[in-house]
Amino acid sequence: MQSKMISTTADLIAFCDAVRHEEFLTLDTEFIRERTYYPQLCLIQAAGDNHFVAIDPLAEGLDLTPFLDLLRNPNQLKVFHAGSQDMEIFFQLMGTVPTPLYDTQIAAMVCGFGEQIGYESLVRELCNGAALDKGSRFTDWAKRPLSDRQIKYALEDVTYLRDVYRALRDRIHAGGRDAWIAEEMAEFADPKKYQADPMEAWRRLKFKSRQPEYLNILRTVAAWRERRAQQRDLPRQRVMRDEIVVQLAALAPESVEDLGELRGGLTGQISNEAQAQLVEEIMAAKLAPKETFPHAPKRSPDVSARASSLLDVMRLLLAQACEEHHVASKLVADKEDLTGLILETLPPDHHLLHGWRYEVFGHLAVDLLQGRVSLCAEKTRHGYQLAIRKPIQGLPGPI
Ligand SMILES: [Zn+2]
Repeated sequence: MQSKMISTTADLIAFCDAVRHEEFLTLDTEFIRERTYYPQLCLIQAAGDNHFVAIDPLAEGLDLTPFLDLLRNPNQLKVFHAGSQDMEIFFQLMGTVPTPLYDTQIAAMVCGFGEQIGYESLVRELCNGAALDKGSRFTDWAKRPLSDRQIKYALEDVTYLRDVYRALRDRIHAGGRDAWIAEEMAEFADPKKYQADPMEAWRRLKFKSRQPEYLNILRTVAAWRERRAQQRDLPRQRVMRDEIVVQLAALAPESVEDLGELRGGLTGQISNEAQAQLVEEIMAAKLAPKETFPHAPKRSPDVSARASSLLDVMRLLLAQACEEHHVASKLVADKEDLTGLILETLPPDHHLLHGWRYEVFGHLAVDLLQGRVSLCAEKTRHGYQLAIRKPIQGLPGPI
């Protein structure tokens, strides 16, 4: 395999022209994000039917525009494996995500491969036992020049992906599951998922109080940190550690002097000016109308002791239904969904109650709760096995 690294705009345009009319492209990126807020893109790999390239985004004077335009082409499918981090990168570069999108990790779950199957295992399963070179996995992608081995390794992430994609696509089509995939990919391609909203940053923190007054300040401090991390392109923890954010919210300082009361103090990196700004934002938040204060996320409710065996039965029903349909159960429903079914707290538009999840499991779960379905043992040639007993036709269900 000839290593090919694109480092000029002219070569990039030539590649784009060569693959423009192909049905799909496979894509992957390599990046580092240890020292920065935003992932630092180090390499883009792309492959069409007959061409595959590594693009060097660090090359001086290389303009990615022609390539990014290609990713916007609505007539060409863009295939990734476990692509959410790649989406963050493209969102940052393009202000949106490539479209239309396909993720082979999600597709693999739809085909009954276990949850979050890795690229390597998928290649082994679907590409005649091919084995990838794992040696360069923890390589420093920012270093230049990259060795031939590093480039070869990086390219395998898109070259085998072509066959992985074709195999999954065909299985899904043969199984009549094209609509399932369409539903999953629409969710995956929602740009809202890849937009970091500073006002939502507080939700990722660990905190005890559920008072709206406290959460209001917490939201303000977390948003301040998020914006500062974005502006300075620093990891959040480098701007202010989580525990300080939580402590600061409890302290709710009204002046820069109050900041001195913090246990351990602020880190030395925050200028007086930034401290004053933070205090000002906290003061403004305190004066905001109470109805704008955030509320603690609902604790996922527990089922009662008596219902907990029902939860176990639900789990069994889910496992059984997913086994029969050859689909990863994690993709269909989680514990919270099952609890929601039992407590009747699922919103009517919940995905278990519509679409393919309803077909596979949702309707069975509802029938189970209404006494129209049962789990029982069934005798086979190899002894007993678990079976879902469906309603008898024509028999009215209980009121
Ligand atoms: Zn990769």
